[in-house]
Amino acid sequence: MVSVDSGRWGPCCSRAPNGSTAGAPGGAGLYALNIWWLPLSCGGPVASLEELLLRIEGITLWDGHRDLGPSLVEWDGDKLTKVERAPDPLLPELCVVPGLVDTHVHLVGHAGPGPADFFTWPLTTTREEQVLHGLAHAQRALRQGVTTLRDLAGDEAQIALRRAFDQSLMDGPRLVVHCVVGMTAGHCDLFTPPAAAQRRPTADGADECRRLVRTWARAGADGIKITTSGGVLSMGDRSEWRNYTRAEVQAIVDEAHALALPVAAHAHSAAGIQVALDEGVDSIEHGTLMTADQARQAAAQGTTVAPTLLINEAIAGGSVPVTPEARQKAALLVAERDKLLRHAAGLGVRFVLGTDANGHHVAFGDQMAEVRRMGEVLGLSPEQALQAATSQAAAVVGLGAVVGTIAPGFGADLLVMRGRPWLDAADLRTDQLVAVVSRGRLVAGALPGILGP
Ligand SMILES: [Zn+2]
Repeated sequence: MVSVDSGRWGPCCSRAPNGSTAGAPGGAGLYALNIWWLPLSCGGPVASLEELLLRIEGITLWDGHRDLGPSLVEWDGDKLTKVERAPDPLLPELCVVPGLVDTHVHLVGHAGPGPADFFTWPLTTTREEQVLHGLAHAQRALRQGVTTLRDLAGDEAQIALRRAFDQSLMDGPRLVVHCVVGMTAGHCDLFTPPAAAQRRPTADGADECRRLVRTWARAGADGIKITTSGGVLSMGDRSEWRNYTRAEVQAIVDEAHALALPVAAHAHSAAGIQVALDEGVDSIEHGTLMTADQARQAAAQGTTVAPTLLINEAIAGGSVPVTPEARQKAALLVAERDKLLRHAAGLGVRFVLGTDANGHHVAFGDQMAEVRRMGEVLGLSPEQALQAATSQAAAVVGLGAVVGTIAPGFGADLLVMRGRPWLDAADLRTDQLVAVVSRGRLVAGALPGILGP
């Protein structure tokens, strides 16, 4: 894990000539990496990070798709303004890659030290305090190189965090928030113990489903999350339970799409995957027991899958605190999963990074480990796995023209790392991170040549 470094900055008005490192500690002779900054205003206080135009020159760039070799990357605020070839680097051990995009997380959960009970924490923690835990999780992910998150159990809390981050009230990743439309006794409903009076909203029947979609649209949701099968951590169901009739799924997808809201569908069972595919959801979450025919259908339709590998392995293996019921359900799924998903990848299904990180079973910061695991289980090359965690994941969350690619016009989310993670999966680790830039601002680590030590 890299630490946030407040850094040391040169004097205001120390305008650096093009390509030099003037203003950086050490000078050009010491730093092959040409990174410099331009304070945008003079005479005022020492320039703060957000006032700085920055550029990186001479580090090998992997742009979300391919290796472009030593490059110059320049940005102005949260906008990449120039990306072009540069002379050979003198710091060849470093590289620049896009910030990662996790398409499946749950921000609101216990983020403090020590274990907390997964089921009672939401009932014993005020909503205000829960939001602060969500903030901590989001910033933890950001500092570890995940600059975009899609929350798939969203409500007003995650929408508030998204707005606060977008307004730069505090550092935070880009957030995409899908709000839940779930049935009574569905997977999401069964995270709350049956005796608890304080429950999340549910919707049954096509009309109620349409109404809940509309309610979330009014609240500011970016998308809708549904479940078409039971789950693992939910209490008292089985992963093969039907969640929603076909008519209800049809109504939800129709209403959501009419309001320009994409739909992500949690589905473990083949029956749940089938109805989700047939009714035109935009992504499938887990997809654990996907058949070969379904894989062909998903590939043909362009329906992506977030396989959430580590969480199900952790639950099945008992390495995280779970109920015997959850452990048994996960073990049954994981026993079948690897060969089915590997086959699906071979049939052309596009898998993207989606961890299901919730702070209890998978940490915010485990994303790089999930990408490495995707390579192993799905048979992806390191470069394919990194594409699945950057450009391809960005497209899934509706930000394919904003993040996940390092090119002029995109947002300024990028990682400076040691190694070549698109060639060697072992290099894709958080301890290889040198610096994290989010929305054009340094949020963790240090940019070599500017900040020390
Ligand atoms: Zn989830």
